[in-house]
Amino acid sequence: MSQSAGKNQHVAVLAFPLGSHPWPLLNLASRLASAAPDVRFSFLNTAKSNQKLSATSGAHLPHNLKLYVVADGVPEGHVPKNPPEELELFLEAAPESFRKGMDMAMAETGQQKITCIMSDAFLVFGSDMAADIHAKWVPLFVPAPYDLSAHFYSALIHETYAKACGGSEAHGNGGAVGDLNPIDKNLDAIPGLSVMRFGDLSPDILQEILPGNHSNSSPIFARALRRLREVLPRANAVVMNSFQELNSAILTDDLKSKFRDILYVGFLKLIVPTPPLPPSHSDATGCLPWLDEQKPTSVAYISFGTVAVLPPHEFAALAEALEASCVPFLWSLRENFKAFLPNGFLERTRKQGKIVPWAPQAYVLSHKAVGVYITHCGYNSVFESLVGGVPMICRPILADNMMNGRMVEDVWEIGVRVEGGVFTKKGMIKSLELVLGHDDQHRRRMKEKIRDLKELVVKAAGPDGIASNDFKTLLELISQ
Ligand code: UDP
Repeated sequence: MSQSAGKNQHVAVLAFPLGSHPWPLLNLASRLASAAPDVRFSFLNTAKSNQKLSATSGAHLPHNLKLYVVADGVPEGHVPKNPPEELELFLEAAPESFRKGMDMAMAETGQQKITCIMSDAFLVFGSDMAADIHAKWVPLFVPAPYDLSAHFYSALIHETYAKACGGSEAHGNGGAVGDLNPIDKNLDAIPGLSVMRFGDLSPDILQEILPGNHSNSSPIFARALRRLREVLPRANAVVMNSFQELNSAILTDDLKSKFRDILYVGFLKLIVPTPPLPPSHSDATGCLPWLDEQKPTSVAYISFGTVAVLPPHEFAALAEALEASCVPFLWSLRENFKAFLPNGFLERTRKQGKIVPWAPQAYVLSHKAVGVYITHCGYNSVFESLVGGVPMICRPILADNMMNGRMVEDVWEIGVRVEGGVFTKKGMIKSLELVLGHDDQHRRRMKEKIRDLKELVVKAAGPDGIASNDFKTLLELISQ
């Protein structure tokens, strides 16, 4: 980069405040800010999400990156009924909230013009906003790359599903043709997605192809997802929270053909290779000291991420299976879900397990005591497990979870999905036995696959990996 590169450059970073989305974006902005000390970064996010970031990341921000608060769209005195309503209110107000946030950031910097908008890709209005102020637009796509592909091909998916149903969509969910229900057929017609099945698509796409199947998300959000394929090709570059080396050549080439540029900068939530675990006594959650007392590869760690919710009877079935199998467990469980546990479970399992509202997950999964991760298959979680060398029992719940679960079980072979796709006491006991039990052959095979895949990730994260080069390209793009 030239000496003057970066001077007068101001990047507005627009966060999507729900789920795990803000972390990778903040990490990317931090890495860029450290590498380009003359560029100013203004990170715009809701107050609640900024607080969560500060409480959970502990990262020291570079001097040229500042957090700003934007409105969450919730009218004063109103409490959103559920996450979809919170999302709807946020998105309705978002273009105006971010515009005001950018004005605030400019005012504070002596009217330093915004030269680039780096937004979460779900904030599709970033495209028009950047065009209006003659700035670059660089969206970050946080979920899995195959999920992006599915959004691009939703019309073709719709069409092929109709064909799979024998020309009529009226078959819907239960319309079996021949031996196979259409929902269980592979997405052979979609480049790079032939390993996936219709049933692995995110609820927002399934909603389009299955009459009467309504996703729980907000209508504005559903519209934004449908606009991805129209707006992303206008971006100066689309940044992926992934390593290119992990994706098939067909998927990579196909996505590449759709954008002006696509940059794979690696898993932004993870440091690869992982640094040594911090001293256990410094872990205020008590998870690491508790794990220190357990036998190697004996513990089941359980977490379903930041937004996914299981039906109450599945919480109960999972708890019953844990208790019956006597497997030591560490469960990251939000306080309000404890009500779904069987009567007396907490008292009876006091010695067997530990329940916390929040765990330092990446460290937990790198602890030698953890033998299995029972997961919803969030993209970040899957790779934290992989890098920790821990096989998974998958119970995908939302968004790209089903596709990730398909990759984990069928392609990477580093985990199993629960029998029937939902937790039952019997199915879960069987899965625990499979992953933690005495079937050495199966367990050894999964461990070998994890080791090979981890090697690939470590190499991809190294100086010769594509991520290092793509990060440099991104740095040049935002600095000039
Ligand atoms: N996480 C954590 N502690 C917890 C629960 C979750 O640190 O107790 C982190 C986890 O490490 C992961 C993120 O939350 O990085 C969840 O992201 P993911 O993409 O897996 O799922 P999402 O929350 O987006 O569904």
